[in-house]
Amino acid sequence: NIRKVNENYFGSYSSFGIHREMLSDKVRTEAYRDALLKNPTLLNGSVVMDVGCGTGILSLFAAKAGASRVVAVEASEKMAKVATKIAKDNKVFNDNEHNGVLEVAHSMVEELDKSIQIQPHSVDVLVSEWMGYCLLYESMLSSVLYARDRWLKPGGAILPDTATMFVAGFGKGATSLPFWEDVYGFDMSSIGKEIHDDTTRLPIVDVIAERDLVTQPTLLQTFDLATMKPDEVDFTATATLEPTESEAKTRLCHGVVLWFDTGFTSRFCKENPTVLSTSPYTPPTHWAQTILTFQEPISVAPASVLSGNDRREAIGTEECPASSIHLRVSVARAHEHRSIDISLEAT
Ligand code: SAH
Repeated sequence: NIRKVNENYFGSYSSFGIHREMLSDKVRTEAYRDALLKNPTLLNGSVVMDVGCGTGILSLFAAKAGASRVVAVEASEKMAKVATKIAKDNKVFNDNEHNGVLEVAHSMVEELDKSIQIQPHSVDVLVSEWMGYCLLYESMLSSVLYARDRWLKPGGAILPDTATMFVAGFGKGATSLPFWEDVYGFDMSSIGKEIHDDTTRLPIVDVIAERDLVTQPTLLQTFDLATMKPDEVDFTATATLEPTESEAKTRLCHGVVLWFDTGFTSRFCKENPTVLSTSPYTPPTHWAQTILTFQEPISVAPASVLSGNDRREAIGTEECPASSIHLRVSVARAHEHRSIDISLEAT
């Protein structure tokens, strides 16, 4: 059955493809590697739990760092088998035949008691790569917090231990408008306008260049993963965006770009704290950034331009530019699945 062969081929390619994409994302994987390998005081002799081990990469780093026991938990049967084979091939597996430190549990972390022997509050270091697009989209954060509350020792380490969301305004260059304005010399801008009238209300995942930002970045929300409650991921935050001073003129802000950093801070990573950043100012990651487009672009100019002699010129015949944009962003978990709803108001 040829069709079936093809389905299996693409099925296996796509799931290993995701793991390859994550492992190839050096910004991501090296941040975890550095947190685990460059903080020996934290890792050496510790009991580590890896929530959602996938290929087992984070558990392999933990074993290499001298952990005394590493519990790698993986819900997907296929990936749990793969992680087991990889742990054996790399001589770190632990069972009756092998005396390494790494155990793989095929289980949802929420049901772990059923598959392995592990005492509540016996883990020194909980590590997980749980972040989704825009930090929270399809994220498994609630599973990580569940594992924290059940298995982490009081005062134990969670890696990463902070997550922060940022926002900045973007200009026309980050939209598809310029593309449609000049297609082999022809004006197809009506398509660009149509796109911007409907579909772009939804968040879009794309890499934004620093040069396309028209405001300074600002912090939107910060989470302390050591202490936060699961319902804190539903939040409403306000932020003020100030136009960049670098180009002292009026520009149109077409929407906002959101991104996140996660911190492996000195609270637990005393020797070598590190930050995993997905910002437009640092090399791109597989998370890219998330953009939300305004219904109408907002004209902005730095306060210095609006108060200086250029004021009349800056205002011109158009409506008066704003010296800042006030944002109100709400993020809420959508019902039944791991999606999120984002709403944006800008004045
Ligand atoms: N830690 C790996 C994989 C990260 S992807 C790496 O850094 O490369 C997240 C993994 O978590 C996926 O393999 C997914 O199957 C698994 N996962 C998601 N939710 C889970 C849960 N509740 N319990 C156990 N595993 C989970």
